[in-house]
Amino acid sequence: MEAIQYYGPGDVRCVQVERPSFGPREVLIKVSYAGICGSDLHIYRKGMFIQNIPETMGHEFTGVVQEVGSQVTGLAPGDVVIADPMVPCMACGSCRRGSYNTCEALGFIGEVRPGCFAEYIALDQDVVLKVPAAGDQKLLALSEPLAVALNICRRARFQPEDRVALIGAGPIGLLTVLAAKALCGVTHITVADLSQARLALARRVGASSVCQRLPEGQKFSKVIDAAGQSATLNAAVSHTEANGFTYVVSIFEDGVSLDINALVSAQITLVGCNVYTREDLARAAQVISDGTVDVEPLISQVLPLSQGAEAFRILASREKGAAKILLRT
Ligand SMILES: [Zn+2]
Ligand SMILES: [Zn+2]
Repeated sequence: MEAIQYYGPGDVRCVQVERPSFGPREVLIKVSYAGICGSDLHIYRKGMFIQNIPETMGHEFTGVVQEVGSQVTGLAPGDVVIADPMVPCMACGSCRRGSYNTCEALGFIGEVRPGCFAEYIALDQDVVLKVPAAGDQKLLALSEPLAVALNICRRARFQPEDRVALIGAGPIGLLTVLAAKALCGVTHITVADLSQARLALARRVGASSVCQRLPEGQKFSKVIDAAGQSATLNAAVSHTEANGFTYVVSIFEDGVSLDINALVSAQITLVGCNVYTREDLARAAQVISDGTVDVEPLISQVLPLSQGAEAFRILASREKGAAKILLRT
């Protein structure tokens, strides 16, 4: 079968690999659509997270169950599914408490074991989630990144009266705007991004105002840094009002220098947000299938799996016009 594998920074290739075998508790899934995530770009640019080279990348997908192992219950061929792609260590304090997204050694499929940029993937039945068969599989492929946004909304306890600013209109930023609006009733969301194409998308998904940089002197009760750079984090803190909250939702590729006195003097709370819970993932699939959250505007392109390397080149380019690219198998 075809798979997109990582060979080194800037080097992903479409190669032929063996179709995976599956154990008695595993499910063989025919991948329908797989999304390229920001973390895949961290791998592509810097070789972060990935354990084996070469490795089949990818952790966001929808697919259809093809075959099931002899001990699998509750799943059958033909079921439309997504999966929880987290690979927690199951041994650290967080894992023992069931808080898998804060696992000290958290890995993902596509990083520590073969991922979903392939025609087939085999996964343990416990991580496979059945989704409504009537749902659009293309849209449901965004369940995983939407779950990240749902975790941010939960951590931020968004209220309709909040005045929110978001820096960085990449997929996670845009999905957070969508979820804050559709599920929490937030109406004041200012989005800042250098890319005009992304600002146009931010407007489409419900931002109340957009700008390249947050206006000088303007403060917000809750500010999200979804861009993950020193400059954007400092901007987020400096635009948070006294006793307000700054949320950090990105993995930073480079070190950070933060004006900590700005944080102390205004008593700002800095909150980290990492991935999601299994419940967030199930809810994300639900609100996509029932139409509560429309993720369609985020899908910039659907390319065949064989053009995976081209998709990475587009996303990693400085242009930054593209939001989510899906690979179709
Ligand atoms: Zn992802
Ligand atoms: Zn752990």
